[in-house]
Amino acid sequence: MTEYDIAIVGAGAAGMAAAIAAGEAASGSRLRIVIIEGARKPGAKILVSGGGRCNVTNQVVSPKDFWGGPRPTIRKVLGAFDVHHTIEWFRQLGVRLKLEPDGKYFPVTDNAQTVLDARLERVATLGIQLLPSTRVTRLTPRSDHFEIGLSQGSPISARRVIIATGGLALPKSGSDGAGMSMLQRLGHTVVPTTPALAPLILGKSPDLGGRFSEFSGASMEVRLRLRRNRRVIAELTGALLFTHFGVSGPVAMNLSRHWLRARLADERAALQVTMGSPALSSTEAADHWLIQQAAKHPRQHLATILATLFPDRFAKALAAELGDARTLAHLTREERLRLAGMLSDLPLPVTGTRDYSHAEATAGGVDLHEIDPRRMQSRKIPGLYLCGEILDVDGRIGGFNFQWAWSSGHVAGWAAVERD
Ligand SMILES: Cc1cc2nc3c(=O)[nH]c(=O)nc-3n(C[C@H](O)[C@H](O)[C@H](O)COP(=O)(O)OP(=O)(O)OC[C@H]3O[C@@H](n4cnc5c(N)ncnc54)[C@H](O)[C@@H]3O)c2cc1C
Repeated sequence: MTEYDIAIVGAGAAGMAAAIAAGEAASGSRLRIVIIEGARKPGAKILVSGGGRCNVTNQVVSPKDFWGGPRPTIRKVLGAFDVHHTIEWFRQLGVRLKLEPDGKYFPVTDNAQTVLDARLERVATLGIQLLPSTRVTRLTPRSDHFEIGLSQGSPISARRVIIATGGLALPKSGSDGAGMSMLQRLGHTVVPTTPALAPLILGKSPDLGGRFSEFSGASMEVRLRLRRNRRVIAELTGALLFTHFGVSGPVAMNLSRHWLRARLADERAALQVTMGSPALSSTEAADHWLIQQAAKHPRQHLATILATLFPDRFAKALAAELGDARTLAHLTREERLRLAGMLSDLPLPVTGTRDYSHAEATAGGVDLHEIDPRRMQSRKIPGLYLCGEILDVDGRIGGFNFQWAWSSGHVAGWAAVERD
């Protein structure tokens, strides 16, 4: 049986970060490190990320950008390898980054391949062995090592194992949740999973004559509110994009995990999603704005005034709800209040989200309470470390999920080379 000091399962963002961190920390000590990757080519998700540009991190990262396990744990991990470390690490890997106005960092090449190539090159330079097209099928802890069964070839052994097999998002990339099942068999708790960062599906609606699909292609800044049994449980603002099946764009995708978690917690709960202009936080605020607009522009067509908040097509559809060719001055008080309600809280008939194949992340995963965040070590199985999306942590859109992968990967990699 070939023996290694450290085996890393999964050569995605977190696994490669862990391998490089371990390889650098171990330099000169002749540790034998191997990465076992199920896919023929590693890093599929890096290549498709950020529309092929790979949004590697964000200017400001805080635990509030993440959901899932306890925030103090997330804070510790992010603090050990933060945005400044990440930017410096990219520099050392030879990848120059640029900061975009919305706070996202991308490689200056605008090409995710640059990010992947730099990692693979560093892995090779550090003498880390990469076993592609090989899935780990079994992990058996022994007294001072692990036996690792592989989908091809003989089993191997390693003194320490880092599991970085990801979640369930984009299963064709090789991340199918097998790592979570393996850890469950070893006694870890897996917080039930749902897609995260997935587009929302809309059903038929009496609002706007059920015409939401007509807005396909229109994008706008909105505030989305999710209510469970009438209580607001999530409120997010950002860009929304209408599609042929529903809504996408960062704000819709960020909301998806909240909708699915609420449905998971209680399948009979009444869930309601509404959208409104971010500038108008309530019906009262919207009514006040309409009264002001009526005073300033008494003869202007309603659709023209609404077009200052929303794209033309959408503004026209809202105006049409109150009858065509009307000015604000023509509206009765009841009509104005109805319009104010639509501007601040227009119901979106969300029936669900798209599945893991269209999700960018996974909510749920291995329970963070069972991990020591200073080392990313399992509190149940000594010598076993976890990092990346396999854990119950999911970030919002903007480079946060990669930051979690880089941070948790580094902590796991460093800890795996430490002496007992
Ligand atoms: C379309 C898309 C776009 C995205 N864009 C961004 C973005 O721009 N910015 C951002 O921050 N995040 C983005 N994300 C999220 C980000 O890609 C993930 O959060 C991150 O890649 C997770 O890294 P990971 O290493 O934990 O898991 P993964 O990248 O999923 O890697 C896990 C690896 O483990 C391997 N594996 C699984 N099981 C086994 C096994 N049993 N044996 C051996 N190998 C195994 C898999 O083949 C895979 O290569 C995007 C995700 C998607 C799907």
